[in-house]
Amino acid sequence: MRRFAETSERIAATTKKLEKTALLAEYLKSLPPDEGASAAVFFSGRPFPMWEETTLQAGGTLLWRIVAELAGRSDEELTAAYRKYGDLGAVAGAVLPQNNDAQEGRHSPSELQRRFREIAAARGPAAKGALVRRLLGEVTPLEAKYIVKIMTGDLRIGLKESLVEEAIAKAYGATLAGGKLVAGGTLAGGTLAAGGNLKDVQRANMLLGDIGETLRLAADGRLSDATMRLFHPIGFMLASPAESAEDALSYFQNALVEDKYDGIRAQAHCSGDTVRFFSRTRDEITESFPELPQTLAGLPQDAIFDGEIVAWSSLADEAGRALPFSALQQRLGRKKVSANLMRRVPAAYLVFDVLYAGGELLIDRTLRERGRILDELLAGERKPFDDAAVSRLRSGEALARRNSALFQEVQKGFGFHPEQSSANQEISSQVIRAPISRASTAEELDQLFDAAQARGNEGLMIKDPESSYTPGRRGKSWLKLKRELATLDVVVTAVEYGHGKRIGVLSDYTFAVRDGERLLNIGKAYSGLTDAEIAEMTQWFLEHTVEDQGLRRVVEPKIVLEVAFNNVMKSDRHNSGYALRFPRIMRLRPDKLPEETDTLERVTEIYEGQGK
Ligand code: AMP
Repeated sequence: MRRFAETSERIAATTKKLEKTALLAEYLKSLPPDEGASAAVFFSGRPFPMWEETTLQAGGTLLWRIVAELAGRSDEELTAAYRKYGDLGAVAGAVLPQNNDAQEGRHSPSELQRRFREIAAARGPAAKGALVRRLLGEVTPLEAKYIVKIMTGDLRIGLKESLVEEAIAKAYGATLAGGKLVAGGTLAGGTLAAGGNLKDVQRANMLLGDIGETLRLAADGRLSDATMRLFHPIGFMLASPAESAEDALSYFQNALVEDKYDGIRAQAHCSGDTVRFFSRTRDEITESFPELPQTLAGLPQDAIFDGEIVAWSSLADEAGRALPFSALQQRLGRKKVSANLMRRVPAAYLVFDVLYAGGELLIDRTLRERGRILDELLAGERKPFDDAAVSRLRSGEALARRNSALFQEVQKGFGFHPEQSSANQEISSQVIRAPISRASTAEELDQLFDAAQARGNEGLMIKDPESSYTPGRRGKSWLKLKRELATLDVVVTAVEYGHGKRIGVLSDYTFAVRDGERLLNIGKAYSGLTDAEIAEMTQWFLEHTVEDQGLRRVVEPKIVLEVAFNNVMKSDRHNSGYALRFPRIMRLRPDKLPEETDTLERVTEIYEGQGK
């Protein structure tokens, strides 16, 4: 890892993207592809390829303790170093003593990845800690610096995964199929074909979710072999905000319009009876929604869908209505979901796109075509997923309403006995094709917007019918039009030092609302203020600290802020019993006194209003 670390240092030392990619390309190309593959994964800030679910489960606290121990430093000394350097890897590099036992460069990238796998497989902090301690004991401080950075998930050398893709394209750019022609694009001073196949690299990485495997294929000149793999989630297409209906229609004329549901984005991978759901972070979330796979089981073709999982109202008078995110929240982050919870908060999967079906990758087809394929897939007959289930299925039942017998399988798994159940105890779950409308004037869009809000949804998604699906990119083919955000005036109660370039300033604010005489915290946000404002506030907070807790300071509650957020959730993270979802600091409100900030009552009002 010596050369990995040295290359990282050189990459960190330049701000020029071209230089960064050139340095990285040169390094990657000098390695055998298997080593380059592991190194490329590390440079993208991960110990393991994106698609893998393996995680180290060796968190910051554990690493902190080991670094302190190996360096023989107290907590205070490490805190001081952390404040100076801004990340634990840099701290390790600075405080670890020269290691006479280190066999510099002994760990190649692939060897390090093997060691990471051992750490991931070890059970419990003690076993993991022992392996980490041994590893860090074998390397130089500079190598340790980057090993810790990889473990904490960010190299902080100004290198995004997109630059690693560029470096791979540059390193293997002119390689024709078979890799025989002028490898590396060095022809005519490196200008001829260098980077010429960046698109192929990006596409392979998108499909594989594995920058290492992408490098191997590039080195072999076999990028075109990269294919979509079921159960390996690919990136999600993202939307850009539109200011208004007029603004939205300035990008394309005839828009396809859907409600914007407030739930969790999920990609469903389906093959026969096996159906798995993946989140935007590409983590598998099937466990949280055990009743959903059944609704997509037995499709006649393998398929990958894109959609939103929402909590779905089970009340008869609210048929067809998604509940606010706060309802769905109760379903998240649980290892086991009880049958009771599934009944209380039923989930639905609102599907709005299809990325793959019957062996064909559909992302280059237009949305209009994908929509047609999606309709056919969801409306079609499906093969029942097992013989026992066949007899319980009413033939020809619409996909969107299959909510009875099938789910008894799931209920059984949770100790729920269907034979003892009455109809109103059934767990319902469904897959619903997100309804589409068309709009070509601002008036039409405004009407749809009002209707979406009346249904309790966030607003609209406005999509270009002629657009392809661009994974992982935020373009103008999908636009989101949301309701005016509520804002709250809050008072800052505690502050923390920031990260990276904000390491020396107090830029993370915890803030509160009033409840009579008391102040109750409701959220925490990175400052959205200007650097000058942050500097000024830092000075003020330093002078008005009530309690210095090291990285954090409790401060006099005098500074009023206006914060925006997406919605209010119940939470025991803060003593108000609420938390704001995606809080953003809009501005300082020096014109307001702390006594004038919003109250807990107002927060409750907003919370309750969300469901209406
Ligand atoms: P935002 O999270 O505000 O950037 O908005 C984009 C998100 O809206 C997507 O990632 C989806 O999770 C969600 N969403 C809700 N309804 C739709 C829809 N009909 N089409 C696409 N995305 C949707």
